[in-house]
Amino acid sequence: MQSIRRRLNSNLIICAVIAIFLSALFVNFTIVNSFRRYVEGNQEKRNMRIVDFLGETYKRDGKWSKNSGIELLHEAYMSNYCLTLMDNNKNIIWAMNPEDIRTKTHIKMMEGSSKGIYKTKDFDIVVDGKVVGYVTIGQYSSILLSQDDVNFKFAINKSIAASIMIAVIFTIIMSLIISKEFSIPIKEVSDTSISLSDGNYEARSNFKSDIVEIENLKESINDLGEKLKEQDAIRKRLVSDITHEIRTPLNILQNNLEAMIDGVYDITTERLEALNEEVIRFGRLLNSLNALKELDTAEMLVNRKVFSINELILSVIEDFSLAISNKEIKLDVMLEKEKSYFIEGDYDRLKQVFINLLSNSVKFTGKGGKINIELSENDSFVIFGLKDNGIGIRKEDLPFIFERLYRGDKSRNKIKGHGIGLTVVKKILDLHDAHIDVKSSEGNGTIFKIYFKKAL
Ligand code: ADP
Repeated sequence: MQSIRRRLNSNLIICAVIAIFLSALFVNFTIVNSFRRYVEGNQEKRNMRIVDFLGETYKRDGKWSKNSGIELLHEAYMSNYCLTLMDNNKNIIWAMNPEDIRTKTHIKMMEGSSKGIYKTKDFDIVVDGKVVGYVTIGQYSSILLSQDDVNFKFAINKSIAASIMIAVIFTIIMSLIISKEFSIPIKEVSDTSISLSDGNYEARSNFKSDIVEIENLKESINDLGEKLKEQDAIRKRLVSDITHEIRTPLNILQNNLEAMIDGVYDITTERLEALNEEVIRFGRLLNSLNALKELDTAEMLVNRKVFSINELILSVIEDFSLAISNKEIKLDVMLEKEKSYFIEGDYDRLKQVFINLLSNSVKFTGKGGKINIELSENDSFVIFGLKDNGIGIRKEDLPFIFERLYRGDKSRNKIKGHGIGLTVVKKILDLHDAHIDVKSSEGNGTIFKIYFKKAL
């Protein structure tokens, strides 16, 4: 396996180098072809010049002699081609020996394939419309290059090679920069996620990237870390809560039973009833745990209908009237008698919501406290409000109160409960697309607000 940086680097460099070489090859091919056509054109012109010159010579002298056009030989020898002059009967007037130019070491040839093969071309020498002789031009390559041609070709190749080098160096530098830009943040996110999976829930990525996807990735990993940290805290608390809840009744039972067996305590009906009370408490805890399990396994099917929420609330208040008066709580209910607020939902499930909320308010509000219940509406929602001036919820507990088995500050263990009521509330409200809000300050009381969508 390779690191992302190494892989990006090598892939970018390979792609860029291939692209550079292909374009260099293409440029070279185009230049060589054009250059070849240019040199071929020059050669054609040279041949015509030779034929014309020999024609002029014949015209001037009126016949061929050993010296006719002999001045061409020097240039031919220097430029590596061979001339043979013949009269109109194909008798040789003079001829160069191809061997003379073949042995020349500075022979410059353009094409490897035709290198060394001697090729000739015959041209008629025409004067006043009559063929007066022939000239044969032969050379060891289809294209001959002068020193200037060779220099030109060399200069072109040199600059192509230089631009390849510059492009390759530039590409390597750019690919190092690009791969670093991508790989460093990805590596950091990957290190964070490895730390998280190793159980270090404090691990976070702190870099800033201007690449949207990488920034999103970082933020989601950080969110994940935050959630894992919360879940870990909840899990630890859950285990300690369950252990505590189970241990308390068991200890009481064990101590009392041992004392009775040892004869320290008399076996009386009151004692047995007190122990039975603990067994019942234990059973209630198991029921609550079972209810929790149901929350997880079955989707609580919602039996929907449209109904007036006023009546539902009044009936729940009725159920709590005894508990409220026992604690001498002052209850204020602000419901307009003539006005009905209609919502759509499962009547029984929603009744459970109000029971759980009101039972908490009564439970956590001291003797002589105050509870306010209010219903209002705006364009979209029916809003239920429940306010008490009880013990309130600590700031650090507030984010977790809807978690299963979460109970506020442990010192409140004196107040009965299993930390399930609000989990059920939240679950039921979610099924109704309703939203619950809580505001609380320790020592001052708590306000719950529920926003139900209005029934159409
Ligand atoms: P339980 O009441 O069985 O402990 P809940 O899920 O109903 O469990 O509530 C979770 C926690 O939220 C409680 O333990 C308590 O700390 C806090 N809480 C809920 N309602 C109130 C309230 N009205 N006043 C103060 N604390 C509350």
